Amino acid sequence: MAELEGLEFGKSDFVLLDEVTMEQFMENLKLRFEKGRIYTFIGEVVVSVNPYKQLDIYGKEVIEDYRGRELYENPPHLYAVADAAYKAMKRRAKDTCIVISGESGAGKTEASKFIMQYIAAITNPSQRAEVESVKNVLLKSNCVLEAFGNAKTNRNDNSSRFGKYMDINFNFNGDPTGGHINNYLLEKSRVVQQQEGERNFHSYYQLLRGGSDDLLKSLYLQRDPAEYAYTSQGATVTLASNNDSLCHKAVLAALKVIGFTADEISSIYKILGTILHLGNLQFTSDGEHATLDGEDTVKHISKLTSTEAENARKALLYRTVATGGGEVIEKGHNEQQASFGKDAFAKALYERLFGWIVGRINAVIEVKDYNPALHGKNTVIGVLDIYGFEIFYNNRSLFIELILRQEQDEYQREGITWQHIEYFNNQIIVDLVEQSHKGIISILDEACLTVGKVTDTVCLDSMNKKLGQHPHYTSRKLLPPDKTMEFNRDFRIRHYAGDVTYSVEGFLDKNKDPLFQDFKRLMYNSSDPVLKEMWPDGKMSITEVTKRPLTAATLFKNSIIALVDKLACKEPYYVRCIKPNEVKSPLLFDDARCQHQVAYLGLLENVRVRRAGFAYRQPYARFLQRYKMTCEYTWPNHLMSTDQEAVEAIVNQHGFEDDVAYGLTKLFVRTPRTLFTLEQERAAL
Ligand code: ADP
Ligand code: MG
Repeated sequence: MAELEGLEFGKSDFVLLDEVTMEQFMENLKLRFEKGRIYTFIGEVVVSVNPYKQLDIYGKEVIEDYRGRELYENPPHLYAVADAAYKAMKRRAKDTCIVISGESGAGKTEASKFIMQYIAAITNPSQRAEVESVKNVLLKSNCVLEAFGNAKTNRNDNSSRFGKYMDINFNFNGDPTGGHINNYLLEKSRVVQQQEGERNFHSYYQLLRGGSDDLLKSLYLQRDPAEYAYTSQGATVTLASNNDSLCHKAVLAALKVIGFTADEISSIYKILGTILHLGNLQFTSDGEHATLDGEDTVKHISKLTSTEAENARKALLYRTVATGGGEVIEKGHNEQQASFGKDAFAKALYERLFGWIVGRINAVIEVKDYNPALHGKNTVIGVLDIYGFEIFYNNRSLFIELILRQEQDEYQREGITWQHIEYFNNQIIVDLVEQSHKGIISILDEACLTVGKVTDTVCLDSMNKKLGQHPHYTSRKLLPPDKTMEFNRDFRIRHYAGDVTYSVEGFLDKNKDPLFQDFKRLMYNSSDPVLKEMWPDGKMSITEVTKRPLTAATLFKNSIIALVDKLACKEPYYVRCIKPNEVKSPLLFDDARCQHQVAYLGLLENVRVRRAGFAYRQPYARFLQRYKMTCEYTWPNHLMSTDQEAVEAIVNQHGFEDDVAYGLTKLFVRTPRTLFTLEQERAAL
């Protein structure tokens, strides 16, 4: 058995704190971070602090230490949680999921990769070829998704700009048979716009820097990202920590391993090329209507999209509209409309490309020919990696709720009486955001449907009017002295653990889909089958599409509801990630920033919930194995008829009777101090 850590590294489980206070929590977290112990348990939850340096704790030997062990037998680690989820799945045929949360740069994606590597390492001991190939595709899919879905931001050089939920399917042997990826809310605005110091998605730079001369020539591209408007707005084209050219080769290899055909790969690059050319298109105005500068660029675009140059030019300058009388006419864009239209087209091209890539990977890893009668129950481990506060949803209420439910389920299973404890009910916030007609999403939807000039400010006014009385809502306009908010832009939601300020800037834009049908039709009529496949809705005529589709906020809400349903039927395990500082330093523990995250993640409540009932629980045999040397009746072996009786002997000898309860298979210990005393006694022997 691996050595447990000594106390000089702080407490390896927050339930062992003398008192559950923020001070003690932070003190322990900081001490452990400074000692290089980035993981700490809260019961079965792992709290992780991004070390910002390579640690030697992920190797093969470490994997072996955790494999098949119980959670508390080893120091806290992602592998302990991964193994617990895997064991529950294999031994009890439970579907499980590992929920990884934390803000941008906190280490969620790295954690999800370590977890997948762990699962890959401990499965398929007999090295069956078909299982190896599934594992390989699952692991390689990360590389592809990161190339197309990650970007350098000011907070994280490799920030995931989409949320990911991945199911891994297992057969009765506990070996992976396939999987499925769901992606959420790709940040498509990045395709056309990047803040100072940030980049577009990695894929563009990888193509430009790593693509062969022939490839670039066939795409009419030059090598320097500074040549293209869409890849140079952040004025940062190079990444210190990332070699674009090498990555290009790795991604290409991964695409091939996954099974993308040469034609498909070529279509992917053509789409990237198309977008870069779109970004460099310039419109001028003849006074009323937009005209195009640079017919060559249009020719390149039409070549790369396998469309007629004349049709491409028309889609860029005109839109087809249905008049009230049912007549269909062509209307010329003004300069601004043409420019917005082109940006919307570029964003949609990329978003659909990303969605198509995910779908293509799913088609490969989808479990085929699974016969439950023959193969036994097909079980699942889900891994959720959704980026932090940039998204308009807060999954913390779900977290507390699920933790509580899980606790209660276990007490019930073990036949332990348990007083239901009240916890914070987040329904009021959920309603504020989601309620029909009065919630924030509804107000946004309505604003989008309104014809005429609806600006972000109008939208904020409407929220102020409808929500101004709400105890959890405020905005700068309603609260003039608060200068930490912008006047015409910000509103604030009072969440349970603190206030979060949101900005309406770009809300409407993000929520609307201003993509003209003309572009969709152009793409649907492409003779490139891959491109055509991505635009099935281009088939519709203009009179069919005048009905407004669901807005982005509503679509997102619906997809999150589906996700919550998916998670709710699985046994959840949690990794809670904390970012120690804003400067990516391995040395700095920024107390205020960390404390804010601890509060927001609800970690203190988590410790309290865990201690309110029974802080610790262990199967009888395990408890005996660990503490039998502290009691004369159990050392070296007990002579009682059951392990439970032997455990009772240990408990009685130490006088802990009032602090424990006996479940069907496990001993439950109320206060951490009891276990602590036992640990000390054990160490003193
Ligand atoms: P998130 O997905 O939460 O935004 P990432 O997982 O991308 O954050 O982590 C951001 C960066 O922090 C990584 O690119 C890596 O440099 C560093 N990092 C995160 N976790 C670890 C770890 N366990 N060991 C070493 N470096 C890490
Ligand atoms: Mg990430």
